[in-house]
Amino acid sequence: MLLFAYIYPRGVNSMKMFCIVKSHLIYYILLILLMVSSTYAFEEKNGNKLANKVIVVDAGHGGIDSGATRPGVDEKDINLAVALQLKNILNQKGAKVIMSRQTDMELSNECDNEKVRGRYHRDLMARVEMVEESDADLFVSLHANAVRNDKKRGAEVFYYNKSETGKILANLIQAELYSVAGRSHSAQNANYFVLRRNKIPAVLIELGYITNTEERQLLLAPDYQQKLARAIAEGICKFY
Ligand SMILES: [Zn+2]
Repeated sequence: MLLFAYIYPRGVNSMKMFCIVKSHLIYYILLILLMVSSTYAFEEKNGNKLANKVIVVDAGHGGIDSGATRPGVDEKDINLAVALQLKNILNQKGAKVIMSRQTDMELSNECDNEKVRGRYHRDLMARVEMVEESDADLFVSLHANAVRNDKKRGAEVFYYNKSETGKILANLIQAELYSVAGRSHSAQNANYFVLRRNKIPAVLIELGYITNTEERQLLLAPDYQQKLARAIAEGICKFY
């Protein structure tokens, strides 16, 4: 329409046409502004929230290390299933995700530090090295719990007590998980190796108890795994 104003021959109606184009122009500008702002709002809500963030998602245990077990259930499989779902969601939000493992494997052979002895410690050190080598922003380790008391259930988030940012992140994730898996409003501190050795905000999440009959079934169900993954991703988004 603007172009039309330039090519329209000068004459009796040229000023009238110019006025029409001018009034229309305001609508076009408003329309463009509306489209830009709604696109921005959409991206804020649905994508790009975690753009440029590098997040290490650590599926606990793996390979010969099954973690907690009960007949027919290995913790390592639940951890990996939720980790893969979490990876997809974080990717959708713009984050770059580094998985400590994407298959059923242990990581002791991945450890570069020759001074670290023993399969168990080398496996854990390899997970910390991944953070250092990738210059990651955030570390999330996924686990599932088992205890003697089969009534105990719910998701719990842990942080290292000397990490203020870890504590903030843990509490944000715990608050989101509360609506999915109940148990506690606030995160707890713990002296786990992968938390203590990380210099970036790091949390360890016990997704639930495989020793509680009902929660065990939930933890094995892909739709429940996705609910957990979504809550964790939401907590991470709120951290930024
Ligand atoms: Zn574990």
